[in-house]
Amino acid sequence: MIEGAKVTKSGAVLLGDSVACDAHESSRPLRVVTHAHADHLYGLRSSLKSCEKVLMTKATRDLTQALNYSLKLKDTASVRTLEYDKTLKYGDERITLLKADHILGACQVLVEDAGGIRIVWTGDFRLEGTPVAECDVLVVEATYGSPSCRRRFNVDVRELLVSMIEKRLRGGTVYVFGYHGKLQEIMKLLRDAYVEVPFVMPERVYEVTKICEKHGMQLGCLSLSTDKEGYELLDGNLPCVAFYHMNQRQHVGLRNARICVSGWEFNSPCRQIGDREHLVALSDHSDFDGLIEYVKRSKAKRVITDNFRSNGDALAKEIHKRLGICAVAMPQSSGQTTL
Ligand SMILES: [Zn+2]
Repeated sequence: MIEGAKVTKSGAVLLGDSVACDAHESSRPLRVVTHAHADHLYGLRSSLKSCEKVLMTKATRDLTQALNYSLKLKDTASVRTLEYDKTLKYGDERITLLKADHILGACQVLVEDAGGIRIVWTGDFRLEGTPVAECDVLVVEATYGSPSCRRRFNVDVRELLVSMIEKRLRGGTVYVFGYHGKLQEIMKLLRDAYVEVPFVMPERVYEVTKICEKHGMQLGCLSLSTDKEGYELLDGNLPCVAFYHMNQRQHVGLRNARICVSGWEFNSPCRQIGDREHLVALSDHSDFDGLIEYVKRSKAKRVITDNFRSNGDALAKEIHKRLGICAVAMPQSSGQTTL
């Protein structure tokens, strides 16, 4: 065990003495939610009941609420929203949420203990828009923690995606499939590139999109697929972009031009996967090189890789090998040796 931090068998990232991030840990008075993705909300109901405070950014609170109707985050006294870079003192410790470039509202967590030791959990992040937090102890995500997970292409994937959609709009409706947060990032890319056709989407995507607008994204004309206007656009195959969650891929837009966005693509920025369907490599996580670069720039003396949400073993080994830093994957896999 590395002093100051730990990832438990239930996925809680423990920092210092008081904080548990992204899963419930009954011995910790403070719970932090780094962002609204489901694999960072484990045990949230228990935390809302029993933790003294449940900390998150306002945008994460709103997105989490929209994606989980039965939680009543706004009416729960323990929920405390915290702005980026504002510090909360708790006992001898200081807790600060730092920006993470991932989805709207995402944060890293910095805990400074009484002795001034700085402990950081990155949460999920993409290096390009994420400030690196210098620290003594670092817990790092490991989604693309294997050396095979490198994006070696030099093209600007965002530009490519916009031009693919623009071109296909000449033939009518284009369907885009992705995850919550990523879909809204694509909407913003299109609006920034002056693509002004209507965006059509089902209710859940619409709600998430409205929250992104509330928190500063300007996304232009939005229609619900179930409203008259949205229905007519889709039914008539008129030029618009239809945004659907990835899990709807088999059910809608089967005769249209279709684009799926996924991070799990490393060899080429774009690949044809069906008659009129392409996969585009747009990720909201750092690839392997980005993870190593973050660790290096953080100047951490000890590193834990998240071995709960992803396979952290390879990343821990590579950090030790390439940077000479003491690194371990947690929770431990069976047969794993500690470096
Ligand atoms: Zn995430």
